[in-house]
Parts: sequence; C-alpha cells; structure tokens
Amino acid sequence: MNQPARYFAISCAALTLFAAATEEFSTAAGPVQITPIQHASLMIKAGGKVIYVDPAQGSYDGLPAADYILITDIHGDHMAPAIVARLKNASTVIVAPKAVAEKFPGARVMANGDTTTIGDFKVEAVPMYNLKPDASGQVFHEKGRGNGYILTFGGKRFYFAGDTEGIPEMRALKAIDVAFIPMNLPFTMTPAAAADAVRAFHPAVVYPYHYRGQDTALFAKALAGSGIDVRLRDWYAK
Ligand code: ZN
Repeated sequence: MNQPARYFAISCAALTLFAAATEEFSTAAGPVQITPIQHASLMIKAGGKVIYVDPAQGSYDGLPAADYILITDIHGDHMAPAIVARLKNASTVIVAPKAVAEKFPGARVMANGDTTTIGDFKVEAVPMYNLKPDASGQVFHEKGRGNGYILTFGGKRFYFAGDTEGIPEMRALKAIDVAFIPMNLPFTMTPAAAADAVRAFHPAVVYPYHYRGQDTALFAKALAGSGIDVRLRDWYAK
C-alpha cells in the first residue's frame, strides 16, 4: 500500500462506525457468531452449522456453504435465487414463507406462527408487515406474506425482524436476547418508530440492520437510558 492510500484508509476509518465484524454471543450450547454481510443479509455460525439469513446483498466470496438458509420475503434485497444457488449444496435446508418457497423447490414452508426445528435450532416464524399504506397508497409488505424469524440456540433467542413496522406482534415478543431491527422509509419504519417498538419488547441487545439512508444515531439516542444494549455497526462498508 502506498502512503496516500494508507492515509486515506486511516482517515476513513476514523469517520465510519465500527466495521461490521463478527459478533459473538455465548449460549448454553456454545458460541453463536453472527457476521453482518450487508443490509438484511447476515451469516450465523453455531453448533458447527452455517446459517444465512436473507443472503441477497454484499459479497459472498470466501464464505462457507450453507447448512440452512432462512428467507423472509420475496423482494430482491431478501431473496436472491442466484446467491442461494451459490451457497447451497445437496443437504442445505431452505426455510421460507410460501411466496418465497415457490422459487425454491423442496424448501420448508413456514407461515406466521409456525415453529420448526432444524438440527439444534428452533425456528419460529413471526409476522412482518406494514401497518398502513405509504403516501402513494402502496403496501410494500402485506400481512402474512413474509416471515420474521426467531432462532433459538442454546437457550438464547435471536430475532430477525425482516421488513416490518413496529407491529403489535413485535411489541408483544418476550425474552428476546438479540434483535435485528429494520428502519428505512417508505419500506419499514423510522428510527424513532423502531426505537419505540424496541422499548416495548425490550431485547437485551439490538442491532439496526436494513437501514440504508437512515440515521441510526437517532435510534440509539431514543433508546438511551432504556437499559437495552444498542449496537450500531456499518452494514454498508465497501
Ligand atoms: Zn427489504
């Protein structure tokens, strides 16, 4: 690396959020490692298994094949058949709502409210939807089409909300250890609305994800003093 490039890298690092490195959580069954990939896409390693949630954006170079893939909805930032084809092998289990599973023969279909087990993981499919149409009258996420997921491993509960507003079903969640919450208009909700919903179900740890174009500092500020561990990471680093 030449000198100017190094200075550039250092000055950028000083300005950006923490890089989206792997986050580790201890559980009764061993560590759970979660690696943000980009936007709504992330990878989980736990119990010797590799799970992707919504592998659709970012780079997958050098990442391992999937044991399990959870897909929340039909939109291109969540469902990308070409990337799924690249990550899967003959034994990969794909978990998806019906509208998504139509694109993936053999997928395990889950509807809102369903619970299933894959290996050592319990998976609950929970609702994700918009509460009302946007200004143009469009509803981007109709109730019942997509799934958020709660993944339980070693007694810890990890919630991946998908594209949703702060719906009553989210506010009523219990005992969530780690939550991943979207905030971007007009598709989901504002940072302030997200913070309000998160206060209601009070996860131990929360990460904003799927927040392109939003100021996540507003979300953190709105949760100051709540006792919730708000972790801002850069999900869009180049
Ligand atoms: Zn989305």
